[in-house]
Amino acid sequence: MQDIHNYSFDQLQSYLKSIGEPGFRAQQIFEWIYKKDAYSFEDMTDLSKDLRFRLAEHFEFFQPTVVDRAQSSDGTIKFLFDLSDREKVESVIIPTQNRTTACISTQVGCKFGCRFCASGIGGWSRHLTCAEIVTQVLHIKKEALKHQRPLSNIVFMGIGEPLDNFSNLMKAIRIINSDQGINIGARHMTISTVGVVPKIKELAQQGLQVELAVSLHGYDNPSRNVLMPVNKKYPFDELITTCREYVRLTKRQITFEYILIKDVTCTKNAVQSLKKAFKGIICKMNLIPYNPVSEFDYKTPPREEMLNFRNRLEEAGIHATIRTPRGKDVSAACGQLRHAHLQKN
Ligand code: SF4
Repeated sequence: MQDIHNYSFDQLQSYLKSIGEPGFRAQQIFEWIYKKDAYSFEDMTDLSKDLRFRLAEHFEFFQPTVVDRAQSSDGTIKFLFDLSDREKVESVIIPTQNRTTACISTQVGCKFGCRFCASGIGGWSRHLTCAEIVTQVLHIKKEALKHQRPLSNIVFMGIGEPLDNFSNLMKAIRIINSDQGINIGARHMTISTVGVVPKIKELAQQGLQVELAVSLHGYDNPSRNVLMPVNKKYPFDELITTCREYVRLTKRQITFEYILIKDVTCTKNAVQSLKKAFKGIICKMNLIPYNPVSEFDYKTPPREEMLNFRNRLEEAGIHATIRTPRGKDVSAACGQLRHAHLQKN
């Protein structure tokens, strides 16, 4: 049995033609799945009974089950989903003034072990299928509508490294983006990466208008090594060169995510180094105050120091904002709800 959510529009059209059905049936089926929330061919009343029966013999519908849900006082809602093999992943709805964003997972666990993140604790189990990515979005879209908040944006910043699951991610993005699918503009989707250099190069060739966010969290090798073990494999200079090439090829801006740690990443040298590194890269910076964890002895800089850092970046011609953390009271940071659940069980 194939999961229907793993089929792109073109693949479904080809399949229907192969069983002697006109291609326009794909349009009807996509509409039921992605616009009318159907999870069964029974619901698709404008298809003949015979076709519904034949499709049900070939396809199944994956639907994630919610096993935990936590709502923050700031409106952020986090869901923990059970997948068909009992693995768990998280998705989050983040409502802000002008948009409603879904934060979506792409893998079960993570291989990259960034030191500020709970997703890698317990290691990596597997990639999510295209169906498991797309159905998280469908679930969040439905939930958001219950709160009169049409889903407007998607960030692939949940559990896992999106670019490490490249082909399933690309297929899911095309379904989410297509007119016949969920119909969310590519520019309203952001892929966040730790800096998997070969995959950033591959992404540049896809002709997609998606946004790219790179978790930089350092201004040279020693400072980046503090939080990002991936820097050993793809060092700072190689990553920056790849980002420059990405911008040249795609003409798209990159967002650099940057955690501010007192005396490590939030220093005078950092601004000068970043200014030099970002030459020729259209970019902006999201500055994130460090969230102290008991395993590490690092400190969050005082508010004034962070504001000074931001101002110095702006003076150096780098647009930077300090991000307000969301959903702090419901463990909205990546992997925390899943980690708590794994510990409990
Ligand atoms: S931040 Fe992303 S890549 Fe890094 S450990 Fe967490 S899930 Fe993995």
